Amino acid sequence: MDENWDCIVVGGGAAGLSAALVLGRARRRTLVIDAGRQSNAVAHGIGGLLGHDGRPPAELYELGRGELAAYPTVEVRDGEVVAGEADDGRFTLQLADGRTETAKRVLLAGGMDYRRPDVAGAEERWGRSVFHCPFCHGWEVRERALGVLDPGPMGAMRALMLTMWSDDVTLYTDGPAALEPADAHRLHAAGIPVVEHAVTGLRGPGDDLEAIDLADGTSRPLGGLLLPVTLHQRSPLAAQLGAEAAPPSPIAADALVLDAQSMTSVPGLFAAGDLGASMPSVANAIAAGSNAAAGVVHSLIADRHPLPAD
Ligand SMILES: Cc1cc2nc3c(=O)[nH]c(=O)nc-3n(C[C@H](O)[C@H](O)[C@H](O)COP(=O)(O)OP(=O)(O)OC[C@H]3O[C@@H](n4cnc5c(N)ncnc54)[C@H](O)[C@@H]3O)c2cc1C
Repeated sequence: MDENWDCIVVGGGAAGLSAALVLGRARRRTLVIDAGRQSNAVAHGIGGLLGHDGRPPAELYELGRGELAAYPTVEVRDGEVVAGEADDGRFTLQLADGRTETAKRVLLAGGMDYRRPDVAGAEERWGRSVFHCPFCHGWEVRERALGVLDPGPMGAMRALMLTMWSDDVTLYTDGPAALEPADAHRLHAAGIPVVEHAVTGLRGPGDDLEAIDLADGTSRPLGGLLLPVTLHQRSPLAAQLGAEAAPPSPIAADALVLDAQSMTSVPGLFAAGDLGASMPSVANAIAAGSNAAAGVVHSLIADRHPLPAD
C-alpha cells in the first residue's frame, strides 16, 4: 500500500517510540517501522531510567508499544527500511518486504552500532558483567574487582571513573602502555595498577566474570570489565536521504548533525536517540525522541500556515 503519512519513524526503540507517542497525541498520521534490534536488548536491565530502573529492555519497548495502541493515528509495524529518497519535501522509503511508503516527514531513530574491542568471552556477557557504561551497569558490579581494557588515551580516565564503583580497579592495556606521564601519575596516586600483558580471554560462570586471562599464562580476578565503544551508523539510510554526518568524536564516528529542533541538514528529515549521539542512554533517547517529534509537529504547522512574506 502506498500511503502518504505525516511522519514515518524509522526505528521503534526508546527514541522512536517516544517520538511516536508525541506525534500520536498531536493526532499526526504516523507509521513506526521497527526491526526490533535495540542496542540494549541483551542487557539484564535498564540501569538509571527513572520509573523503570532495572526493568528488562524488552518490557519497556512492549510497554511503549502498548501505550501507542491508544492513539488511532499511529501504526507500529515490524519491518525494516532498506532504502530511502528525499525529493523536494516528500520522502519515499523502501521496506524489506517490498512495500513502499511515503511521508511528509521522516524521523530517523534507528540507533547506532556499538563497536567494541574483540575479546574472547565478552559477547555472552555484554550488557551484564562486561559493559561500556558504568552509569548503566556499574551498580550491578559494585565493590568487585573491576577492570578497564583500553589501550587508548582515554583508558586512564575510564579507570579513574570506575573508582566510583570499587576500590579495586585495574587498567589493562593489552600491550605496552602509552600513558601520558600525568595519567600514569594519577593512576598511581589512585592505587590503580596497569597490566600491560596481552589479554587472551574472560572467564566466569554464566553472565558473570571471575577472571581475566593474560598471554603470559597468568590470570587475575575480575568481577566486571569496562570496554570502550565507538558508535557507528547501522546503515547508509541517513546518507541516502542526504543527511550530513558530524566529524568523528570520542563517542561516535558519524553521528548526525541536528539543529535545536532535531532536524538534520535535510529539510523535513529529523533524527533522535543514539543517531544524534549526545551521551547515549535510554533517558536521553526518550527525551530526544520527544524533542524531535515536537520539531516535526512544528514544521507541519508551518506547512499549513506559512509565515506571510515580507
Ligand atoms: C549493551 C548495552 C547496554 C546498555 N544499557 C543501558 C542502560 O542500562 N541504561 C541506559 O540508559 N542506556 C543503556 N544503553 C544505551 C541505550 O540502550 C541507548 O542509548 C538507547 O537504546 C538508544 O535508543 P535509540 O532508540 O536511539 O536506539 P535503539 O534502542 O538501538 O533502537 C533503534 C531501533 O531501530 C531499529 N532500526 C534500525 N534501523 C532500522 C531500519 N532501517 N528500519 C527499521 N528499524 C530500524 C532497530 O532494530 C532498533 O529496534 C546500553 C547500550 C548497550 C549497547
